[in-house]
Amino acid sequence: MPRPPLTTDRAADPTACQAVRQHLHAHVDGELKAEEGQQALALLLQSHLLHCVPCSRVAAQLRAMRESLRRHAEQSDEPMRDEFRARMQKLLAG
Ligand SMILES: [Zn+2]
Repeated sequence: MPRPPLTTDRAADPTACQAVRQHLHAHVDGELKAEEGQQALALLLQSHLLHCVPCSRVAAQLRAMRESLRRHAEQSDEPMRDEFRARMQKLLAG
């Protein structure tokens, strides 16, 4: 069976981006680097973000959201976790 032609533009490969986005939140959180055996994955994500504009935009938005969540947590006892999670999932699904 002939394989379907692979795209020459790796940055535009939706499979790669999909895989990246599954780990993007943990990566932005710094969880991957901290986890044993995940350093290689963290490096892969890092290099993907360098050449993939859509994913790097999502990463930037996640970082901004983390920052606003942290500020919110400092100012209030009210949990924003659910709202944050919903926004994050919407972002990652796009
Ligand atoms: Zn990507």
